[in-house]
Amino acid sequence: MASPLITLGENTVWENKHRTVSLTPRLFCDVWNMWLEPPASNEPIWRAGLAGLRALVAKAEAQNLRIRGLGGAWSLSRAAATHDIMVNTKPLNYIELGFRDSSLDIGFSGNPDALCFAQCGASVMELYQYLEARGYTLPTSGASNGQTIAGAVSTGTHGSANAIGSMQDYVLGLHMVIDGGRHRWIERASKPVVSQAFCHAIGAELLRDDALFDAAVVGFGSFGLMHAVLFEAEPLFLLEKSLVRMDYDRVHPVLGTLDVEALGLSGGAELPFHFEVVVNPYRVSRGQRGAYVRYMYKRPHRPVAVPTGGSTWVQGDDVMTLLGTATGWTPELVPVLLEPILSAQLGPVQGVAGTPGFQFGATDLRGDVMSTEIGVALADAPQAVDAIIEVANRFPWSGFPAIRYVKGSDATLAFTHFSPMACTIELPSAGSPRTLEAFHRVWDELRARGIRFTMHWGQNMREDRALIEYGHGARVEEWLRARRSLLGATGQRIFGSDWLTACGLG
Ligand SMILES: Cc1cc2nc3c(=O)[nH]c(=O)nc-3n(C[C@H](O)[C@H](O)[C@H](O)COP(=O)(O)OP(=O)(O)OC[C@H]3O[C@@H](n4cnc5c(N)ncnc54)[C@H](O)[C@@H]3O)c2cc1C
Repeated sequence: MASPLITLGENTVWENKHRTVSLTPRLFCDVWNMWLEPPASNEPIWRAGLAGLRALVAKAEAQNLRIRGLGGAWSLSRAAATHDIMVNTKPLNYIELGFRDSSLDIGFSGNPDALCFAQCGASVMELYQYLEARGYTLPTSGASNGQTIAGAVSTGTHGSANAIGSMQDYVLGLHMVIDGGRHRWIERASKPVVSQAFCHAIGAELLRDDALFDAAVVGFGSFGLMHAVLFEAEPLFLLEKSLVRMDYDRVHPVLGTLDVEALGLSGGAELPFHFEVVVNPYRVSRGQRGAYVRYMYKRPHRPVAVPTGGSTWVQGDDVMTLLGTATGWTPELVPVLLEPILSAQLGPVQGVAGTPGFQFGATDLRGDVMSTEIGVALADAPQAVDAIIEVANRFPWSGFPAIRYVKGSDATLAFTHFSPMACTIELPSAGSPRTLEAFHRVWDELRARGIRFTMHWGQNMREDRALIEYGHGARVEEWLRARRSLLGATGQRIFGSDWLTACGLG
């Protein structure tokens, strides 16, 4: 039998993109869509990658080691890290658009041409480029495009598509490699998509279970190695972006209602497809124009004078970019320096149209950055932002709130589970001990005020079961139950990690 190509690195120092996590795993492996010997048949190239993942899980089991999938390494938390086997999945980037009828369940009512099978390592940038060249696009993504699809979905990556939700919310199927060399195709019983014939062809057992799917889709590497996801792409559209600056007290009531009529946006009372507010916490008095409102309307696709599928136009595209150079700021300087930086980077924009791949393109991130992000119910958003502003004014640090909105997620441990609408408040900041102290103060302040909140799994977070339960309640036990239903004792052990244990989920 042919062997898949896997490159094994020992004593490889690994660090995530923002150098908030660094370790030397026992093995750092790259898995490839390649065989060591030429394949006997004309089979799809992704089969080699799948075989590689299965071989690595078998190795982990045989040596009683923990194993974790690694995507783009963009998570600032320890979610992707283990001291044993880390699997770089980025070379597994096969993408295929369109499904044959024989591959579909008779209950599937969507558009087979729009079904996209994406291997785990396909990056958001690669997906935008691939889909937009074929007249489709991703329904939503984060602000920029360096994540892999599996990594993004696994922590609940989101933008501000208030009618759609986060990236996991458009995923229809998961192809998971679990213990015992088994691989499973998991989808919702309430939303069947693929046929038994499809599962037979890829060699996977079909599991249709809503509770399992909802838990595994935001599973941060703890349900096995994700080989691929299936989702329905959307016909290509344009987003027309504007950015205006105004007083915080004008925006404040809108933060908890999304009733934008009073803001005087170019579309009047229409809630834009994407609505986002950045607040300078030191400029919240009347006349200081401390709120930056960025909004995008969805428009039918037409040729526009910008490239599709990725862009290096970073003016204001990613708020984290702003802080990369700010590590040396002293607390007294923060309120003074933030204003010119925000106003320069978030200058006015009026109706710039581009595809989603253009609007959510590459990021020009520099320096050490930290970021935490909390989720709250829509109605709690104004109080949560006020609490953060108060913390900042008592304990100035380089961060500021960037507020977005997504439809509540069905994923069991999505940090955006608040129904019907979740508000996410990110605090992009320069990386420093003071920033970490500020994050702890923010979490404590929200708790003290009785505001229920969750933390983004892929950002700086407090690894604390009690705080996680404060935000997720009974969902934590549901998630654990679903994990036990998929994985045997061996699987639970090898797909665990120190981080998972510290979070009280291992
Ligand atoms: C510059 C920047 C901008 C960001 N912008 C946003 C944003 O706009 N919105 C937002 O929500 N978040 C944002 N984030 C956070 C980021 O989207 C998440 O941390 C995301 O999970 C990172 O994806 P990744 O591919 O880098 O995965 P990694 O960070 O490598 O891994 C994330 C998780 O997925 C698991 N995983 C990855 N691949 C597999 C696999 N094949 N099988 C099993 N498990 C796997 C890992 O074990 C880990 O638990 C941003 C981060 C950065 C650095």
